[in-house]
Amino acid sequence: MSEHKPKPEELAQVEFAPSPRGWMDPTVEFRKGTWCYSAVPETLEYLGLPNPRRWQPTDHDWKLPDNWREIIVHGLRERLRKYRSLQVFMDTCVRCGACADKCHFFIGSGDPKNMPVVRAELLRSVYRNDFTTAGRILGKLAGGRELTIDVLKEWFYYFYQCTECRRCSVFCPYGIDTAEITMMARELMSLVGLNIEWICTPMSNCYRTGNHLGVQPHGFKDSIEFAVDELEEITGVRVNAPINRKGAEILFITPSADYFASPHYYTLLGYLALFHEIGLDYTWSSYASEGGNFGLFHSAEMVKRLNAKMYAEARRLGVKWILGGECGHMWRVIHQYMGTMNGPADFLEVPRSPITGTEFVHAASTKMVHISEFTADLIKHGRLKLDPSRNDHWRTTFHDSCNPARAMGLLEEPRYIIKSVCNHFFEMPENTIREQTFCCGSGAGLGTDENMEMRLRGGLPRANAVQFVHDRHDVNLLLCMCAIDKATLTPLLEYWVPGVDVGGVHEMVGNALVMKGEKERTTDLRGQPYPAKEDSRNV
Ligand code: SF4
Ligand code: SF4
Repeated sequence: MSEHKPKPEELAQVEFAPSPRGWMDPTVEFRKGTWCYSAVPETLEYLGLPNPRRWQPTDHDWKLPDNWREIIVHGLRERLRKYRSLQVFMDTCVRCGACADKCHFFIGSGDPKNMPVVRAELLRSVYRNDFTTAGRILGKLAGGRELTIDVLKEWFYYFYQCTECRRCSVFCPYGIDTAEITMMARELMSLVGLNIEWICTPMSNCYRTGNHLGVQPHGFKDSIEFAVDELEEITGVRVNAPINRKGAEILFITPSADYFASPHYYTLLGYLALFHEIGLDYTWSSYASEGGNFGLFHSAEMVKRLNAKMYAEARRLGVKWILGGECGHMWRVIHQYMGTMNGPADFLEVPRSPITGTEFVHAASTKMVHISEFTADLIKHGRLKLDPSRNDHWRTTFHDSCNPARAMGLLEEPRYIIKSVCNHFFEMPENTIREQTFCCGSGAGLGTDENMEMRLRGGLPRANAVQFVHDRHDVNLLLCMCAIDKATLTPLLEYWVPGVDVGGVHEMVGNALVMKGEKERTTDLRGQPYPAKEDSRNV
């Protein structure tokens, strides 16, 4: 944790009084704990991105190219032509304020520039100044601002305090998507070399080794084999986990954190147990060893480049379709962008469960199915023998990760699975779940340590809802289906709601799954002792 971390009782005192300075004043104080380190030049060089150099946001001189302003204005013009949505978002906002109090960063910081309407205005004011007649003639009177170095620094500060979660867009009567505006602003900043480290190094790692963590093929293999050994110790069942097996029916791709971080690892054990038990004909890949796509937090071009490897690997291995693990933004890329960026993937087949025969027709273009859809279908058809009492030491709730919830509408499947494998499940308040779910506060590449104060502030609304079910129902486990959530909700809850752990949905599945030939389980997948064993049942 950063040295700048205040105590919870201090951080919870949020000041909502408006600043005496108007919103047009771009002055920003880069206070420790609220901003992210710049990307090191080596990663920009590796990725072929412009203006690699050493600099930090606190420097007076950001070492921009002499014509930085022309580059950005030209980039904005190109994107207004290319993306009709951007033009509509720039022209449409009526300042109704419906989105104003919906952003977790505004709720947790009280900073008016974290209101989605004002965040968008930071870019819109430049658009107005340079691209509208009223702005050209009336300037500030028409809400226009010149793109000065201070405005650019303000962009960097606030567009890296947006997790692109899209909660605000749910409440906008015009459907304005501030996340898309943030994505455009980040693209524009990247044109002159303004990038953050926590996004660019994972991207370059992904280029080099196939995954964000930079795990090399032999490390990937070791990790999977270690998990197989550990699962055998717990269950007495030796599972097969094939890697790079040509001719398998299904390619399974999951975030690298699942095989290299905790608590993700317990979810990995759950996948391995499940695939063995149903006899799935599948393979892992040491090349497509990452489901996540940090390109989404940088630019459309990077999304496309990183996404392509998954499909290249599916083609190389000759599989029929792809099954994807518990990840958040991976699914936004697949469902919202892949079809037109690298698809349709017509060389693959429309996914069909080899166990139940269910055809996943909604994946007809991407040929990729979410693990929760796959598992919910197995349970619905009675293909799994489950003993939910093996999760009785957990009193669970479910955090809808922003992208599966709002970008995919994946709301019922995880709940159906959890209720099938856990006896104790409690929902958080309804205005904090499903489409209205609150972000973890650390998505979109902001899950780093130097901005921890901002992460804790942004995570406050989610933590408040967890506190509610912890107080009322003794909830001690927050389940989620996103690798970033698993990583970042853990320190968030340690800070705001001690006593609540974080876990994955398939960790619960792995606990409850009664495997053929298993020994009597004495611990769950975390190695925690089970309560007294009760009768198992078919679901
Ligand atoms: S997308 Fe999320 S983080 Fe960004 S302004 Fe909207 S609510 Fe805030
Ligand atoms: S809800 Fe939509 S129209 Fe209203 S202020 Fe926010 S972005 Fe503008």
